[in-house]
Amino acid sequence: MMVSVIWRDVLLDLLNTTPVVDGRRTELLDEGWLAAHGADRGSVDEARRVRDDLQRVVRGEAAADVLAGCLDGVRRVPHITDEGFAWSTDAPWAGHVVLAWGELQRELPGRLRPCANDECRLFLLDRSRAGTARWCSMKGCGNRMKARRHYDRVSRG
Ligand SMILES: [Zn+2]
Repeated sequence: MMVSVIWRDVLLDLLNTTPVVDGRRTELLDEGWLAAHGADRGSVDEARRVRDDLQRVVRGEAAADVLAGCLDGVRRVPHITDEGFAWSTDAPWAGHVVLAWGELQRELPGRLRPCANDECRLFLLDRSRAGTARWCSMKGCGNRMKARRHYDRVSRG
Protein backbone atom coordinates (compact mmCIF):
# COMPACT_ATOMS: atom_id res chain seq x y z
CA MET A 1 0.00 0.00 0.00
CA MET A 2 0.98 3.61 -0.51
CA VAL A 3 2.17 5.93 2.23
CA SER A 4 -0.59 7.07 4.49
CA VAL A 5 -2.63 9.83 2.97
CA ILE A 6 -5.28 11.87 4.72
CA TRP A 7 -8.07 11.64 2.19
CA ARG A 8 -10.00 14.56 3.64
CA ASP A 9 -7.00 16.79 2.93
CA VAL A 10 -6.61 15.32 -0.54
CA LEU A 11 -10.29 16.07 -1.20
CA LEU A 12 -9.96 19.71 -0.16
CA ASP A 13 -6.71 20.14 -2.09
CA LEU A 14 -8.36 18.56 -5.13
CA LEU A 15 -11.34 20.91 -4.96
CA ASN A 16 -8.87 23.79 -4.74
CA THR A 17 -6.87 22.96 -7.87
CA THR A 18 -8.64 25.63 -9.93
CA PRO A 19 -7.85 28.90 -8.16
CA VAL A 20 -8.47 32.24 -9.81
CA VAL A 21 -5.17 34.01 -10.33
CA ASP A 22 -5.24 37.53 -11.78
CA GLY A 23 -8.88 37.06 -12.73
CA ARG A 24 -8.33 33.77 -14.54
CA ARG A 25 -9.16 30.19 -13.63
CA THR A 26 -5.84 28.38 -13.24
CA GLU A 27 -5.25 24.63 -13.48
CA LEU A 28 -2.98 23.12 -10.84
CA LEU A 29 -3.83 19.46 -11.34
CA ASP A 30 -1.10 17.69 -13.28
CA GLU A 31 1.06 14.57 -12.95
CA GLY A 32 3.15 16.16 -10.20
CA TRP A 33 0.06 17.13 -8.22
CA LEU A 34 -1.32 13.60 -8.50
CA ALA A 35 1.95 12.04 -7.39
CA ALA A 36 2.05 14.34 -4.37
CA HIS A 37 -1.52 13.35 -3.46
CA GLY A 38 -1.31 9.60 -3.39
CA ALA A 39 -2.31 8.75 -6.98
CA ASP A 40 0.49 6.60 -8.31
CA ARG A 41 -1.04 5.51 -11.58
CA GLY A 42 -3.69 8.16 -11.92
CA SER A 43 -4.58 9.74 -15.21
CA VAL A 44 -4.71 13.51 -15.14
CA ASP A 45 -7.80 13.67 -17.37
CA GLU A 46 -9.68 11.24 -15.16
CA ALA A 47 -8.71 13.09 -11.97
CA ARG A 48 -9.79 16.41 -13.49
CA ARG A 49 -13.15 14.89 -14.42
CA VAL A 50 -13.68 13.68 -10.85
CA ARG A 51 -12.57 17.08 -9.56
CA ASP A 52 -15.01 18.92 -11.83
CA ASP A 53 -17.86 16.63 -10.71
CA LEU A 54 -16.98 17.13 -7.03
CA GLN A 55 -16.85 20.90 -7.49
CA ARG A 56 -20.28 20.90 -9.12
CA VAL A 57 -21.74 18.70 -6.38
CA VAL A 58 -20.31 20.86 -3.57
CA ARG A 59 -21.59 23.99 -5.30
CA GLY A 60 -25.03 22.39 -5.58
CA GLU A 61 -24.88 22.44 -9.39
CA ALA A 62 -25.07 18.66 -9.80
CA ALA A 63 -26.71 15.79 -7.96
CA ALA A 64 -24.38 13.62 -5.91
CA ASP A 65 -25.06 10.56 -8.07
CA VAL A 66 -22.63 11.90 -10.71
CA LEU A 67 -20.00 10.57 -8.26
CA ALA A 68 -21.43 7.05 -8.10
CA GLY A 69 -19.10 5.66 -10.76
CA CYS A 70 -16.09 6.52 -8.58
CA LEU A 71 -17.22 3.94 -6.06
CA ASP A 72 -16.89 1.06 -8.53
CA GLY A 73 -14.35 -1.39 -7.19
CA VAL A 74 -14.37 -0.03 -3.63
CA ARG A 75 -14.18 -2.87 -1.09
CA ARG A 76 -13.88 -3.12 2.67
CA VAL A 77 -11.44 -5.79 3.69
CA PRO A 78 -11.12 -7.29 7.18
CA HIS A 79 -7.61 -7.87 8.57
CA ILE A 80 -6.61 -9.93 11.56
CA THR A 81 -4.96 -7.76 14.22
CA ASP A 82 -3.74 -8.38 17.77
CA GLU A 83 -7.10 -7.12 19.04
CA GLY A 84 -9.15 -9.27 16.67
CA PHE A 85 -9.73 -7.65 13.36
CA ALA A 86 -10.00 -4.26 11.67
CA TRP A 87 -11.42 -3.05 8.39
CA SER A 88 -9.44 -1.36 5.70
CA THR A 89 -10.66 0.13 2.46
CA ASP A 90 -9.42 -1.13 -0.84
CA ALA A 91 -10.27 1.49 -3.47
CA PRO A 92 -8.95 3.30 -6.49
CA TRP A 93 -7.74 6.87 -5.86
CA ALA A 94 -11.00 8.50 -6.95
CA GLY A 95 -12.90 6.06 -4.75
CA HIS A 96 -10.96 7.18 -1.66
CA VAL A 97 -11.59 10.82 -2.51
CA VAL A 98 -15.33 10.30 -2.98
CA LEU A 99 -15.51 8.27 0.25
CA ALA A 100 -13.82 11.18 2.05
CA TRP A 101 -16.47 13.50 0.60
CA GLY A 102 -19.22 11.12 1.75
CA GLU A 103 -17.80 10.90 5.27
CA LEU A 104 -17.72 14.70 5.49
CA GLN A 105 -21.35 14.85 4.37
CA ARG A 106 -22.24 12.57 7.24
CA GLU A 107 -19.95 13.94 9.96
CA LEU A 108 -19.94 17.64 9.14
CA PRO A 109 -22.99 18.24 6.93
CA GLY A 110 -22.86 21.55 5.08
CA ARG A 111 -19.37 22.37 6.31
CA LEU A 112 -17.64 21.75 2.98
CA ARG A 113 -18.63 24.67 0.80
CA PRO A 114 -17.55 27.16 -1.82
CA CYS A 115 -15.93 30.42 -0.69
CA ALA A 116 -18.56 33.14 -0.30
CA ASN A 117 -16.57 35.41 -2.60
CA ASP A 118 -18.21 34.62 -5.93
CA GLU A 119 -15.09 35.68 -7.83
CA CYS A 120 -13.13 33.03 -5.93
CA ARG A 121 -13.14 29.39 -7.04
CA LEU A 122 -11.81 27.93 -3.81
CA PHE A 123 -13.59 25.78 -1.23
CA LEU A 124 -13.38 25.64 2.53
CA LEU A 125 -14.00 23.08 5.20
CA ASP A 126 -15.55 25.01 8.05
CA ARG A 127 -14.15 23.55 11.27
CA SER A 128 -15.38 26.43 13.45
CA ARG A 129 -17.71 25.55 16.29
CA ALA A 130 -20.37 28.01 15.19
CA GLY A 131 -20.22 26.93 11.56
CA THR A 132 -20.12 30.50 10.29
CA ALA A 133 -16.88 30.49 8.27
CA ARG A 134 -17.52 31.93 4.83
CA TRP A 135 -14.15 32.52 3.22
CA CYS A 136 -11.47 30.23 1.85
CA SER A 137 -9.09 32.24 4.03
CA MET A 138 -9.52 35.19 6.33
CA LYS A 139 -6.32 36.68 4.97
CA GLY A 140 -7.35 36.47 1.34
CA CYS A 141 -11.06 36.68 0.57
CA GLY A 142 -12.09 37.54 4.14
CA ASN A 143 -10.16 40.78 4.12
CA ARG A 144 -10.99 41.59 0.51
CA MET A 145 -14.71 41.19 1.12
CA LYS A 146 -14.60 43.20 4.33
CA ALA A 147 -12.70 45.96 2.58
CA ARG A 148 -15.27 45.94 -0.22
CA ARG A 149 -18.19 46.18 2.21
CA HIS A 150 -16.45 49.00 3.99
CA TYR A 151 -15.85 50.78 0.67
CA ASP A 152 -19.53 50.29 -0.32
CA ARG A 153 -20.68 51.76 3.00
CA VAL A 154 -18.33 54.71 2.75
CA SER A 155 -19.15 55.46 -0.87
CA ARG A 156 -22.90 55.21 -0.25
CA GLY A 157 -22.72 57.24 2.95
ZN1 LIG B 1 -12.01 32.77 -1.47
